[in-house]
Amino acid sequence: MKADELACVCGARDYHRVLDGTYSRVGYSGYRFRILQCNACKLARTDPMPDVEQYTKDEYAEDKPFAQGTTDLWSESIAAHIARLTKPGKLLDIGSHSGNLHPPLTKRGFDVLGVDIDPAAVEVAKQAGRQVLLTDLFEAGFSGASFDVVTMIHTLEHLDEPKKVLAEIARLLRPGGILFINVPNYRGWLPRIMKDHWIGWVAPQHVWQFEPRTLEGTVRRAGPFDTAYLRGVGSMEPPSQGIKGLVKKLVAGAGDRFGGGDQVVAAFHRRPDSFTSNGEAGR
Ligand SMILES: [Zn+2]
Repeated sequence: MKADELACVCGARDYHRVLDGTYSRVGYSGYRFRILQCNACKLARTDPMPDVEQYTKDEYAEDKPFAQGTTDLWSESIAAHIARLTKPGKLLDIGSHSGNLHPPLTKRGFDVLGVDIDPAAVEVAKQAGRQVLLTDLFEAGFSGASFDVVTMIHTLEHLDEPKKVLAEIARLLRPGGILFINVPNYRGWLPRIMKDHWIGWVAPQHVWQFEPRTLEGTVRRAGPFDTAYLRGVGSMEPPSQGIKGLVKKLVAGAGDRFGGGDQVVAAFHRRPDSFTSNGEAGR
């Protein structure tokens, strides 16, 4: 489907193109794509619109990064960040894939439950002894205010209905609870110089392309959330050889230091507002 025929999360339908290119990273080759930016709220989206059903197919997880149940430094640093922002409690990890984030969170005292719609990833998680349910969030049947923390690590950009999911998270979080989000930051320093070569576009999969201010706008319009943390940090680019690799490393390091990293790390407190009768989060 053409992305410019769809309404933005904010409801507007007017876009302008900010990038036109070819994606050839993480197992993809020569995938033509455009990035369109909403004229009203500035949120960017990928054209063509990725097929969100792809994750439910068995072959999706194979040969893709993070398909294996590993412990990795990346998950360790995310867990450490979450532990700095909030006390241990009951944590729901949405789009937890094979659950690599779970051991470093469990180690820090969190009671972790994951959900994912990818059968192959959930199988890997189960074999590693991690609590991940093969379910859509809305079919999981969780009761309101039943979690202290909700995490979405590189998940929100894959969703066709982020507003609906964020409103459900507002229902699931206890008042004062925290929502922790990581997404690629397409306005980080590396994507600015790398254009369509940047790894983080993942154009065949990412419906939305965020930057700090549009992530904040999308979350705060969807439910009763206050920003607790918001910054462009780190780098998604793997190390590479030669002069290009050196330039990438320098730009990534400087970007990370000055808030221009190519991932947005954000945390939001759920305000203690009441719910409306239809179950949607109040404002
Ligand atoms: Zn918009």
